[in-house]
Amino acid sequence: MSSFIGRHAVVIGAGIGGLTAARALADHFERVLVLERDVLPAEPLDRHGVPQGRHVHALLAGGQRALEELFPGFEDGLARAGAVRFRVGLDVRVERPGFDPFPQRDFGFDAHAMSRPLVELTVRQRVRAWASIDLRQGCRVQALVHRADGAAVTGVRYTDAEGRAESVDADLVFDASGRGTPTLEALAALGRVPPAETTIGVDLAYASGVFAIPDDAPSDWKGVFCIPGAGRASRGALMLPLEGHRWIVTVGGRHGDIPPGDEAGFMEYAKGLRAPTIYNAIQHAKRIGEIARFRFPESVFRHYERLENFPRGVLPIGDAICRFNPVYGQGMSVAAQEARALGRLLAARARERDPLAGLAPQYFAEVARLVDTPWAASAIPDFVHPDTRGERPADLEQTLKFGVALGKLAARDPTVHRLTSEVQHLLKPRSVYQDPALVQRVLAVMAN
Ligand SMILES: Cc1cc2nc3c(=O)[nH]c(=O)nc-3n(C[C@H](O)[C@H](O)[C@H](O)COP(=O)(O)OP(=O)(O)OC[C@H]3O[C@@H](n4cnc5c(N)ncnc54)[C@H](O)[C@@H]3O)c2cc1C
Repeated sequence: MSSFIGRHAVVIGAGIGGLTAARALADHFERVLVLERDVLPAEPLDRHGVPQGRHVHALLAGGQRALEELFPGFEDGLARAGAVRFRVGLDVRVERPGFDPFPQRDFGFDAHAMSRPLVELTVRQRVRAWASIDLRQGCRVQALVHRADGAAVTGVRYTDAEGRAESVDADLVFDASGRGTPTLEALAALGRVPPAETTIGVDLAYASGVFAIPDDAPSDWKGVFCIPGAGRASRGALMLPLEGHRWIVTVGGRHGDIPPGDEAGFMEYAKGLRAPTIYNAIQHAKRIGEIARFRFPESVFRHYERLENFPRGVLPIGDAICRFNPVYGQGMSVAAQEARALGRLLAARARERDPLAGLAPQYFAEVARLVDTPWAASAIPDFVHPDTRGERPADLEQTLKFGVALGKLAARDPTVHRLTSEVQHLLKPRSVYQDPALVQRVLAVMAN
């Protein structure tokens, strides 16, 4: 007897969400078809469908571990392809208000720095090696197909690389399109309620440049994270190494403080950062290629976990559920963690009579649990800025004060510093901060 849950799964989009979902589905469906509208490059190059890929993309340790679990050997593959391994806590100089720099400490675990196209290519190569996964490029999904009674999605309609209209049946469709439009449109077509959204208007503007690492580059760090302060000091920047002995520098401002796209303007903007380390490092470095720019108006969390009676046969993943403020580099890692959770959930349900019945509420509850920590980590500090739009949590002031005091404690105490790094890297949930002994210590700092 077959141990598969279904015959056919379809995934919309071959970004990190789509590729990792395809891998998780491949254990439980006879065939998995991934439909990607872009033509996918054989090299780690930028592509139209992922414009944010031209900006710095950190892969957090929590996301890296999820990818390693889905694709054993992934981390070594990434390093072989030229990604730069770095020690978390030690190799990236963190400059935050009041601590320029924050203490650098070795916590005994690694992450990698590389371009976003290289992460995607490394994952894509592993997906392509999977015999039951068919990755078709140049195929744009037009709409989901559903049953006449509206109870279930049964496939997709798409246009193939030759422009022909096609349709394909599926037991389960995964929407990894980034925008999540196919799912939202299907809900509307079925007369269903859309998910409630929490939005936080941050009005971020980014510019990124790539530089050859000069021979006299500093040796006491591999990257620099210049965390913005409030008010006039609200410019931030992240500089990380890339494959090919290069640095990528992304600078960003908020609410109308827009970094220019020309070289002189970019350098002048970098000179205006709160701390001079990044500007000093790149001022004589050779710039490679164009400066790329990006606007990010708002973070959006679609609360699918609050919906009742979600149709059978379709689920979203990654940015289609939650688009995080990119400052903390969480999106790819959360997508990979969601795919890993999906795989575990399907494995646990595989022996049920109808494993797909009731999958949605369990999956969405799991996703909401995974999103909680990274959402809070980026969303709560956003409200420090008076121009940020959105509903401020009732306990915001206390939460912000707690965060500042926790940071001071982490600077003094390596154990607390390690814990905050583990939470930041999505290895632990933020609920670890509720430990009574830790709370007492943080309150003592707040009282001083
Ligand atoms: C400026 C910026 C910087 C960022 N920095 C980081 C970072 O440092 N670290 C990090 O982890 N994350 C970062 N992110 C977030 C990260 O890019 C996203 O969270 C991540 O790409 C989400 O993956 P996804 O697969 O859900 O969507 P996407 O990566 O957007 O992929 C969607 C895919 O679906 C395809 N597609 C869309 N519609 C269709 C259709 N109708 N038919 C077929 N294919 C379709 C697209 O072509 C694309 O390939 C950043 C984001 C921005 C904007």
